[in-house]
Amino acid sequence: MASMTHCSGIKRRLTRQVAIGPVKVGGGAPISVQSMIKARPEDRRETARQIRDLEAVGCDIVRIAVPNMDAVRTLAAVRKKARIPLEADIHFSPQLALASIAAGADAIRLNPGNMSDQVRIAEICRRCRARRIPIRVGMNSGSAVPRKGGVPVKRARNADTAAMMVRQALAFCKMLENCGFHAIMMSLKAADVLSTVRAYRMAAERCDYPFHLGVTATGIPPDAVVKSALGIGSLLLAGIGDTIRVSLTAPPIDEIKVARSILRAVGVRVPGVEVLACPTCGRTEFDVAGVAREVENRLRGVKRPVRVAVMGCIVNGPGEAAECDVGVAGGKGESVLFKKGKVVKRLRPDAIVNTLVREVRILCGDD
Ligand code: SF4
Repeated sequence: MASMTHCSGIKRRLTRQVAIGPVKVGGGAPISVQSMIKARPEDRRETARQIRDLEAVGCDIVRIAVPNMDAVRTLAAVRKKARIPLEADIHFSPQLALASIAAGADAIRLNPGNMSDQVRIAEICRRCRARRIPIRVGMNSGSAVPRKGGVPVKRARNADTAAMMVRQALAFCKMLENCGFHAIMMSLKAADVLSTVRAYRMAAERCDYPFHLGVTATGIPPDAVVKSALGIGSLLLAGIGDTIRVSLTAPPIDEIKVARSILRAVGVRVPGVEVLACPTCGRTEFDVAGVAREVENRLRGVKRPVRVAVMGCIVNGPGEAAECDVGVAGGKGESVLFKKGKVVKRLRPDAIVNTLVREVRILCGDD
């Protein structure tokens, strides 16, 4: 697996690069975050509202399910105003893929598990190439079926889901390449973390397509967040992954918040303020949770990546949060302000929040 170094120090798998509108995926581009619209296909107003919400929280790419022609019309309507690229999610129907390309989709997701008509797929490739848009080969465990001589056969109870997904996805990629099409991304999502991670690791050894990471059908937070963090996070730590989607049974903007938290946790600097707070203990001298929440709320609009610490005591606080750009540690009736672990001044407890907010604004050049 060829590699290159990431800003967090992790060696990233070296992949080809594709472009979804203005967003580059793979080839060393920053790891992008994406989500999916959860409105009814015919509901243009709600679809447009969810896209605006996602733009506001820093989503890079939005996917829209296209199960019928109503959805194609919605896609065409929202494409005119959306500022971020839109990927059309297609199952079963080459016709809907072709219609979505014509409606202005910036990328197409095809499921190898339910599309096999080579003539129609060649036509999709031709149109995508003409419009310079990529195809994501989006394999899901649910649609992975074993084949013999190309014919689907009954799935054995002990079938290796990960191996099956990889085989089927790579065979589909080969079909696209035989059509002279190379602007390919790949995803290999299973409903369990282990199969997902195994599938991506196996595929990483066998191709250099950029990967869209995700674990599917994770369910409701907090379980869903843990599964996504484990699956996506462990792959990112291994240098695998170019764009990520956290699947939650929750509003789309929650998916972006979790995606950014996962990126931060693996050491990627992402836009916005990250507030670190100590877990509190018997040494805690002030309302750590309250201060952390207030600072986070007041700095919500900040775009630069900044790390802020709110620590409950002077004994351990500045040292434990030495990586943070700025922070406070509470003391008895008195607190200290520190920058990169060095105490720079003493504060009255009632000045903590205002001082932290002002210091971050100065760091960002807004004061
Ligand atoms: S920073 Fe201080 S108050 Fe917070 S958990 Fe650590 S020892 Fe306790």
